Amino acid sequence: MSSEDAPTTRPLPDVERVAPGAWRLEAAVATLPPFDTVNTYVIAHSGVAVVVDPGGERSEAADATRRTIALAGATLKAIVLTHTHADHLAGVDRLLEGERDVAVYAHPRELQRLDPAWRATGLAHGRRLTVGDEVVETVHTPGHSPGHIALWLSTQRLLLAGDLVAGAGSVWIGLPEGDVGEYLESLARAAALEPAVIAPGHGPVRHDGALVLHEARAHRLARERGVLAALRIGPLDLSAIRRALYPDLDAAIVDHAERSVLAHLRKLMRERRVMHVGTDERGPFDLAPGGGRD
Ligand SMILES: [Zn+2]
Repeated sequence: MSSEDAPTTRPLPDVERVAPGAWRLEAAVATLPPFDTVNTYVIAHSGVAVVVDPGGERSEAADATRRTIALAGATLKAIVLTHTHADHLAGVDRLLEGERDVAVYAHPRELQRLDPAWRATGLAHGRRLTVGDEVVETVHTPGHSPGHIALWLSTQRLLLAGDLVAGAGSVWIGLPEGDVGEYLESLARAAALEPAVIAPGHGPVRHDGALVLHEARAHRLARERGVLAALRIGPLDLSAIRRALYPDLDAAIVDHAERSVLAHLRKLMRERRVMHVGTDERGPFDLAPGGGRD
């Protein structure tokens, strides 16, 4: 889907107040189904604003973001990217137009993928940004991508989660960037913060933070059990495992599904529960000795 045929039926972008000094704006983007929008967040306190994930590339998205900052009586000081997938940064250039002192931040593991003209700065785990009288803390949450970060506003118990979780459905964890083991650790790291509100990169804001994180973990572990169950009948190649998990897939997303199965297999091989018995990356794969076949 190009930005030109993006759905125009709903009034885009919408603005929703998430917490005192925090707003969500929804913009149309081309991204993986079931999503067709991305959430951009504006955090503004004491005249200072930070924008998180300006993913909408249309001018309307940048206009709405600027309007929100102006209504908050603030000046844009920084743009923070939870990660560097195109649907989270397509609007950066438009927001930087005419600005002089706006810093761009992303995790050090993703900086090399950004436009050098942005002169982006690394934001490592634990690093704090001050936004007026609010403090935004960086939480490294790899899994969806190696340098994925979430942003924690402890006074609001609000977690800006990027693609760590979605407001509805699940996020994609697939090769080459995805890592299921790291992803599960990241969910635990986020859960330890005990967020009340989770503001995700796609889908609605959730006010049941613990449940969202628990569901994401349960979903991933159920998928892992599905991979192991498929292999219980004998060695299978990647396509066969994928068909066992998702029998009726739209051809357009078969590749994505297979790369997500590979991410599970990689974790299981690292844990020596599955072994690769083939000649290329498509397998076949088999349960490791003692891995569960009777
Ligand atoms: Zn992403």
